Amino acid sequence: MSETDAGAVLLRSGAERPDKSMAPTAPGAERPDKSMALTAPGAAERPDKSMAPTAPGAAERPDKSMALTAPGAAERPDKSMAPTAPGTVRLRALGRWGLDLLLPAQCLGCRALVGEPGRLCSGCFAQAHLLAPPLCRVCGLPLAGLTGISGKPELDLACGRCLSDPPDYERARAVFAFGDVAKRLVHDLKYHDRMEGRASFGEWLARAGAEFLVSANLIVPVPLHYFRLVRRRYNQAAILARAVSEISGVPSAPLALKRVRDTKSQTGLSAEARARNVKGAFTVRKGFAGPLKDAHIVLVDDVLTTGATAEACTRALKKAGAREVSVLTLARVGEP
Ligand SMILES: [Zn+2]
Ligand SMILES: [Zn+2]
Repeated sequence: MSETDAGAVLLRSGAERPDKSMAPTAPGAERPDKSMALTAPGAAERPDKSMAPTAPGAAERPDKSMALTAPGAAERPDKSMAPTAPGTVRLRALGRWGLDLLLPAQCLGCRALVGEPGRLCSGCFAQAHLLAPPLCRVCGLPLAGLTGISGKPELDLACGRCLSDPPDYERARAVFAFGDVAKRLVHDLKYHDRMEGRASFGEWLARAGAEFLVSANLIVPVPLHYFRLVRRRYNQAAILARAVSEISGVPSAPLALKRVRDTKSQTGLSAEARARNVKGAFTVRKGFAGPLKDAHIVLVDDVLTTGATAEACTRALKKAGAREVSVLTLARVGEP
């Protein structure tokens, strides 16, 4: 088997068994509809699916499921787009979809030809720095050189930074370290309307977050401010949240969090400046108190850098009653 074949098999094996990473520990009893969601891609379109089955207080508020899927766009990958230009974006998406059918499949990283769309070639996959154990059980960064105490270091060990100054969220996991390949994936998703990697992103995220997705109640993306959403037309974090929701069966609530201040870009800011920049920038939208109460939330974003944004979101979620927040991102910047 050539190196290329090996890489392709690695990637494809995930595609064929999206439920694999979830299966070993999936407590089916907690979410009876979950197994269905794993195999039924259309499930997300049903309003009843978005009802968080385990969220306390669900029964007394039958209208809640509407709120979770609200502005109606859950059926489409463009769901988080700005309400001002839906037609345009749908046309663009359609155009790209048409192109995808006509053009040969390209690697998400380097555009080399690959066997199927939305995949990485073996070369990019090898360079993508997948984050693998041993990881800090809190922040998810690799604990290089440590072998652990009980033979399960990923369960036992935290890095020095997390031990001395633990974040507000319970844990964070990412698919890739933020190298050249991850940078390109994130940039294409964010600025270039490149959606063909969506299914792969969903699979990778579901695998990276498998340990906590099994007990999660709700997936919530980090929101963009309205003005930025209008400019960019979609929220890449909401697209990732929906992708991982489809695979894990955990409902996503793209509107649960609202960015109340249009914060400047975190790029180039120090850790302290980042924290100041996003302080109080997020709030929970009215109507989500029920689903969030005592819930385990999976907060999804494209990249986790210092964690300042994730912490600001976590504080807003916990203020609204969330019990636990796990952060799941495509890429992770930094070293422990
Ligand atoms: Zn490539
Ligand atoms: Zn850590």
